[in-house]
Amino acid sequence: MSSPAPPPSLSPATDSGGFSELVGQHDAVEQLSDAAASGSPTHAWLFTGPPGSGRSNAARAFAAALNCEQGGCSTCQSCRMVSAGSHPTVTMVSTENVSYRIEDVRQLITTAQDRPQGHRWRVIVVEDADRMTERATNVLLKAIEEPPPQTIWVLCAPSPADVLVTIRSRCRHISLRIPPVEAVEALLVERDGLSPEQAGFAARVSQSHIGVARRLAADVEARNRREQTVSLPLKVRSASQAVLSAAELVSMAQADAASESESRLAREQTALRRSLGLEPEEKIPPKLRTQFKRLEDDAARRAKRTVTDSLDRTLIDLTAVYRDVLSIKLNTGAELINEHLRAQLAELAETLSAEQALGCLDALNTARTRITQNVPPALAMEALMMHLIPRRHRGA
Ligand SMILES: [Zn+2]
Repeated sequence: MSSPAPPPSLSPATDSGGFSELVGQHDAVEQLSDAAASGSPTHAWLFTGPPGSGRSNAARAFAAALNCEQGGCSTCQSCRMVSAGSHPTVTMVSTENVSYRIEDVRQLITTAQDRPQGHRWRVIVVEDADRMTERATNVLLKAIEEPPPQTIWVLCAPSPADVLVTIRSRCRHISLRIPPVEAVEALLVERDGLSPEQAGFAARVSQSHIGVARRLAADVEARNRREQTVSLPLKVRSASQAVLSAAELVSMAQADAASESESRLAREQTALRRSLGLEPEEKIPPKLRTQFKRLEDDAARRAKRTVTDSLDRTLIDLTAVYRDVLSIKLNTGAELINEHLRAQLAELAETLSAEQALGCLDALNTARTRITQNVPPALAMEALMMHLIPRRHRGA
């Protein structure tokens, strides 16, 4: 495998953060910037929205706005530190485990007690609050009810139903939505300098997931892997092919995760250099080395979670295939997510009844659940691919 360099077409300002990165979220941006400007924001927030809606980016932009003299300018020292993950009073956490341990939550609560010396607010962002067990949540609850005067909690989850009602009722709720394809396309053209054609393709096949769209547009290998993934169901006709394709899917997801981790680490290193005022090629002074070491350690810890996320992305891509097939079968006239594969998808639609296509969507859903429950990926994918063999070929 060739080593994936960070996508060269992306300008360094890409990760500067700020509310301008939140595409198609006008309501949320207005509420958050008003709250930051008010000087007395609510102390507990719940940000919800499906993957790709930008929950973590919204939380980071909010943390930056709270601590910036100008309400989130993206350019001052404080904003740049938030974006580089090196701001001393902004803590963003996510777990690599299936759920948070009580000790992790206690540690966060201890951090929350510290006054934000020299800064406006201490902000604690829990990026995946849905991964908190009931016991851990109850420990957190008390802290959220009576926070120190300068501490703000931001909890992120896919939907309000993913956190306990006791938490929900104590938080101000911000709901993020999946931005329209056109808005993502416009962002990729304006901010990243992509051609309208590239941007349109990436925005559509990523289903408006900005991070994924950017990667697909900038990284030809990521694009090839996606195309291989979505073409697999078109080829699987026997049990032995199903087993082979399952293995292929897993290894492509692993390759994708590795490449994504590398470019994320490179982006973080660049952002940290910028926030410390180091030139791109300048040698890192010994006293700053621990900060860079910490980025590498975080990347290593994230590795397993990244593979799980990448497998989930694979399953979302395959789900799009069957939604397209259904759309063809039901003659909805809608533009397909995989419009560029229309001819092959029409062929697949011929071999399946609408019920069978729905059955495949169910099987994909089951596989997504299994992956998050730590079922070995090869097993989950094999069961799935067996299910995707068109009926008339089964047992052949
Ligand atoms: Zn600023």
